[in-house]
Amino acid sequence: MAISHFEPDLIRRYNVNGPRYTSYPTADQFREGDWIAAYDNALAKADIRALSLYLHIPFCSKICFYCACNKINTANLKRADSYVKRLKHEMTLHSQRIGRLHTVEQVHFGGGTPTFLSDVQLTTIFDALRDYFNLAEDDDRDFSIEIDPRDLAPQRIDHLAALGINRISIGVQDFDPAVQIAVNRIQSVAETRAIVTAARNNGIRSINIDLINGLPKQTLGGFTQTLSQVIELSPDRLSLYSYAHLPQRFKTQRQINADDIPCAETKLKLLGTAVEMLTEAGYEYVGMDHFAKSSDSLIRARRLGTLHRNFQGYTTHAHCELIGLGVSSIGQVGHTYVQNEKTLHDYYSAIDSDMLAIARGTQVSDRDAIIKSVIQDLMCRSLVNFTEFRTRTGLIFEDYFRDRWPELLKLQDDGLLRIEPDTLTVTKQGRYLVRIICMIFDAYLRDGSEKFSKAI
Ligand code: SF4
Repeated sequence: MAISHFEPDLIRRYNVNGPRYTSYPTADQFREGDWIAAYDNALAKADIRALSLYLHIPFCSKICFYCACNKINTANLKRADSYVKRLKHEMTLHSQRIGRLHTVEQVHFGGGTPTFLSDVQLTTIFDALRDYFNLAEDDDRDFSIEIDPRDLAPQRIDHLAALGINRISIGVQDFDPAVQIAVNRIQSVAETRAIVTAARNNGIRSINIDLINGLPKQTLGGFTQTLSQVIELSPDRLSLYSYAHLPQRFKTQRQINADDIPCAETKLKLLGTAVEMLTEAGYEYVGMDHFAKSSDSLIRARRLGTLHRNFQGYTTHAHCELIGLGVSSIGQVGHTYVQNEKTLHDYYSAIDSDMLAIARGTQVSDRDAIIKSVIQDLMCRSLVNFTEFRTRTGLIFEDYFRDRWPELLKLQDDGLLRIEPDTLTVTKQGRYLVRIICMIFDAYLRDGSEKFSKAI
């Protein structure tokens, strides 16, 4: 029988706020400035091997109260026509800089609700993508889209597959009717199953399901039922996020009654139950919030040491430069992170002036790059090898991080990690708290960590 190594006492002790480290420096460190020039400079210097494109589709016909995404509530499909027009123009602006030389191995549509778009609008986007970029057509490509089963008739999946989509991610969060009412997201098991079946029938090779732990009205009984229903759907991957209630920052969350949110002890039980049930069902822990079947490419990459973490979570395409398209999208070229304007108005006015809509960003300094590589190793391999670190940086790990040593030793005493002569290894128990270990290396984390979510 598979063992999860989930230790509630440890999670309880280290339940502090912290980043998810989809980048380092984290996105809250991005600053305004002349980032178009910095981006052009990065492109000129970059040794581009392949590309990954992220397209943000911000529209949602209904709003889920827990949401912390950049979204626009509308039922008017015409608004998306204007948006698609700007996306196409933005593609030309990037394509003028990058050309069609490099293969696009990864395309991800996130939101918002990408499936808010009609078949015609999605076709227009894909036609433009193929006009301006060199999209991979082989089986190794990862072209994915986030699906809201409430918005997408299962018959439309064949169109997505014909466009080249081969991965889908389905938002579920919880099937418990009481939770669904409390978060304003009513979605049946049947309509979710219909999407899964249609995806399988159309050759979609990977299905991910998103769940959230800690939503209002969640109970152990209800969540156990949801987990059983999800396991029966047998997705290839599962994301299990912890709900962070931050109504001061996210207006939508003010519609949630704080009294309905489960207490930390219940959240811990929900998480523990999820980990045990998923492990029992044959899923392996990829890392921070993510599970996958043992045969999945993420698990294989983790074993081979080639797993990578970026803004879309875990990926096997570490060598790709990331181009962000659409409002609030983030891109990364070399050591430069950039983010587009966050409002539709500012995004449109930049694109209509024939300019990239990049508004903020950050430059990864030499020190950042060293720390970033350690965080990547911890998140993706659960291991830092000191000899490899020295080869990579010319530095001695123990000397460079001497001031962090007492904190690392404390985590070792508590069983989160193991320090040996040439390695720092995250223990199986410590993997659920890996961000706590990463936070020790994070040079920007002095205060203000309450803006991030907790482990539970
Ligand atoms: S969770 Fe997804 S569907 Fe719900 S409001 Fe947010 S972006 Fe829209």
